[in-house]
Amino acid sequence: MSEAVNPFESLQEQVDDAAAYLDVDPGQLARLKHPERVLETNLAVEMDDGRIEVFRGYRSQFNGVRGPYKGGIRYHPDVNRDEVKALSGWMAFKCAVVDVPYGGGKGGIAIDPDDCSASELERITRSFATELRPFVGRDRDIPAPDVNTGQREMNWFKDTYETLENTTEPGVVTGKAIESGGSAGRVEATGRSVMLAAREACRYLDRDLSGATVAVQGFGNVGRIGARLLAEQGATVVAVSDSSGAVYDPAGLDTEAVAATKAETGNVVDHDGVEVRTNEDLLTLDVDLLVPAALENAIDGGLARDVSAEVVVEGANGPLTPDADDVFADRGVVVVPDILANAGGVTVSYFEWVQNRQRFSWSEERVNDELETMVVDGFDALTDAYESHDLPSYRVAAYVVAMRRILRAAEQSGTWP
Ligand code: NAD
Repeated sequence: MSEAVNPFESLQEQVDDAAAYLDVDPGQLARLKHPERVLETNLAVEMDDGRIEVFRGYRSQFNGVRGPYKGGIRYHPDVNRDEVKALSGWMAFKCAVVDVPYGGGKGGIAIDPDDCSASELERITRSFATELRPFVGRDRDIPAPDVNTGQREMNWFKDTYETLENTTEPGVVTGKAIESGGSAGRVEATGRSVMLAAREACRYLDRDLSGATVAVQGFGNVGRIGARLLAEQGATVVAVSDSSGAVYDPAGLDTEAVAATKAETGNVVDHDGVEVRTNEDLLTLDVDLLVPAALENAIDGGLARDVSAEVVVEGANGPLTPDADDVFADRGVVVVPDILANAGGVTVSYFEWVQNRQRFSWSEERVNDELETMVVDGFDALTDAYESHDLPSYRVAAYVVAMRRILRAAEQSGTWP
């Protein structure tokens, strides 16, 4: 893992790489390389023992020309301003590549949630929601879950906002529990788009997903569900990992049994009857498909030289450093970029928001069908751009598609004042 790479600089490099294939005005390009605004806040929260502790939180609103800002809230000790800015930019391009009518946003609190009780996390979340209240709203900025946040935090966020605004507005956040206005299929959505992107890539490359071996780094919402759905497509998931390490079985893992172990002990390495490996081993295993689904900068240029997989599907946001991208391009390794592969989360968040506005619920089947259509359409737009402009990678192609859509909307909006 490369700690030194600043994800915001990676984002800007990705935008520049794609801009080389577009006729972009320099001023408009600058707009695509910086967020419109970033809020930094210090939350003073009473802990269970009566102490006051201060937590730093951020919200970055990247680009609003295609619709309200949209993106998750992350709780992690490494959260910082540049990480949040990068993640908000990736959200803007992600929404554009699958044609979801949102701009990008992202938030986070620098916190280790394992060090906090549930009631402390509730107070921290309500404090953050109170700070963000003037900036969010179903037509302004719509948070969602990300690393270490989920339905519980979104329910608290919604309740805080609705109480302060004296209204009911479930569409102020997405990723809620079903009973609080959530959507069928939302929990599985990102893992589902990882599977769909892998399936489409295999189809395009004339490879057989059902005969493929797969390694998945990260066994949370994205990795666990992605692994299960890939196995359901007939792929053999030989290794998965979490922050405790990796487990490997060349004959294929029962991913649901590993998930049950993790639910019980918190660690995949406690699973019986499998080889325990390091996380680095997992990334370099002799597999057909590698799915990094943990955090950014998981694979740098050095590690990329040792990766055996010929197809990498990015479940996480920004798991490859720009150096790793260059190495993979030189070696002919196909990278299905994050802004398409993990777009399922924001796509079903969009469906949740539409249902909240309609005060109507869709069936899970309808959600999954509409999601499939949008991911497949996004993949087709990407491959059209890739072929028609002879682009160097799928990532550049995805950014070309996304940037064109944002630039067109910006041009149509004009300049004001
Ligand atoms: P999560 O908190 O549910 O899971 C993260 C997993 O990564 C955990 O299993 C953790 O143990 C593991 N992990 C952390 N460090 C690791 C390391 N060094 N090696 C191996 N595993 C490690 O988070 P998530 O929601 O699954 O998100 C994962 C990634 O996907 C993040 O980059 C996130 O921004 C991105 N993403 C998530 C969603 C979503 O809907 N949840 C949508 C789009 C993108």
